[in-house]
Amino acid sequence: MRHQKLGARAEYRQAEEQRTRDSASLAEKFGKLKTLTVDLAFYNPEGVTRNSQIKYTVNLANAKSVFRFSCQNSECIGGDFDLSEELAKAVAARRKTASGELCCQGWRNKTTIDTVRCHNILRYKLSFGY
Ligand SMILES: [Zn+2]
Repeated sequence: MRHQKLGARAEYRQAEEQRTRDSASLAEKFGKLKTLTVDLAFYNPEGVTRNSQIKYTVNLANAKSVFRFSCQNSECIGGDFDLSEELAKAVAARRKTASGELCCQGWRNKTTIDTVRCHNILRYKLSFGY
């Protein structure tokens, strides 16, 4: 059995933030990409209650190619939503939009590690301009 320290959540977040900081910017990685708009809606695990929604135009020079968003569950451990792959695939195929749904694979909270997953849902739509 793997023992989780009390700070598992903070440690995971820190490592992921470091990985993000170390990645190339979107502008560096995807030279062809000129604009990117994201439309994100966060839902509870049942997918019926929307907790929040954000829509914005990404600053390609500042945003990183490890393209991830925090899970809205404030106790989630080891989860979050990573759209890096979806983004890379869509840009490679020169698609104008990409949309879908991701399910958070973290643990619901620190007492459910190894038993209950978070399973919060992110529904996303990415719009690309070249
Ligand atoms: Zn989560």
